[in-house]
Amino acid sequence: MQAVRFVGVGRPPEIHDIPKPTPGPGQVLIKIGGAGVCHSDLHVMEEDFGFVPPFTLGHENAGWVAELGQGVTGLKEGDAVAVYGPWGCGRCHACQLSMENYCENWAQIEGFGGGLGLDGGMAEYMLVPSARLLVPLGDLPPAKAAPLSDAALTPYHAIKRALPNLHAGTTAVVIGVGGLGHMAIQLLRALAPVHIIAADIDDTKLEHAKKLGADDVVNNRHIDEAAERIQEITGPRGAALVLDCVGVQATMDLGVKLLGRNSLWTIVGLGGGRHDFRHGSTPYGTSVSIPYWGSRIELMEVIAMAREGRIHADVTEYPLSQAADVYSKLKSGQITGRAVLVPQ
Ligand SMILES: [Zn+2]
Ligand SMILES: [Zn+2]
Repeated sequence: MQAVRFVGVGRPPEIHDIPKPTPGPGQVLIKIGGAGVCHSDLHVMEEDFGFVPPFTLGHENAGWVAELGQGVTGLKEGDAVAVYGPWGCGRCHACQLSMENYCENWAQIEGFGGGLGLDGGMAEYMLVPSARLLVPLGDLPPAKAAPLSDAALTPYHAIKRALPNLHAGTTAVVIGVGGLGHMAIQLLRALAPVHIIAADIDDTKLEHAKKLGADDVVNNRHIDEAAERIQEITGPRGAALVLDCVGVQATMDLGVKLLGRNSLWTIVGLGGGRHDFRHGSTPYGTSVSIPYWGSRIELMEVIAMAREGRIHADVTEYPLSQAADVYSKLKSGQITGRAVLVPQ
């Protein structure tokens, strides 16, 4: 079968022909309906995360059950499912709470999940090590639902933690209206009565943000001007939440200027920006966090929201064979919403 392979740091992905996997006891084979093209894959290919090549990329996956390994019950061939991405040990306290993203045994586990050290979903089929990692999609089409498992789940987890701060009269700022940001705006709209400001360096993405429910949009190509514009909107209270979906130095330098006292600064983008966290550098009472992905139960909640039409991923589908081209489009900011690779 065709698969998009990570072949080493500093090299573009390559399409290889690899054997179709067979599910062992407890495992499930998924026929892939779509695999999201995520910006973090660019970091995986360009920086050294310690992942050992080669493996199949794609950590945002959905499809249909194709074959059940011995002993698997509760699923049947043809069921539409999303694959929960962060694969933990399945046994520790965090995993038992469905928070495999915070598995206590992460250091002993090989890879972070399919597409992140282990074979992922940019292929015709994907082997999932346990049925517990599958969430039913009902009538959602897998190619449209694939981004829910990361682009929606990651901001959902971040926003859910922030909800007690997001009451009426407060402001949330979303920096970066890409795959995660375009979902974050919709999630905030659906979950909290906050004023939403979206910031991006691309006016097309800001128009998109408006359509998705942002109250104000600000171009942040020039950090000082953007900060001033946003401060005019928030007033002396500042933002209750700054959700940085980019995380580069420029967006972190912007973010810190926007925070109110007793606020939340949440960085989900992998841009590697730094902040000198000390008395005087950050408003009093600010909680800074770098949450990772989300829990399996949160994925169920995200899927339930999508099934009710409260959120949707703006998906553009591409054939698997165009993977390298789609990654370079993503890198140069030419993808609006989420690109999803679909096997032919
Ligand atoms: Zn991702
Ligand atoms: Zn665990």
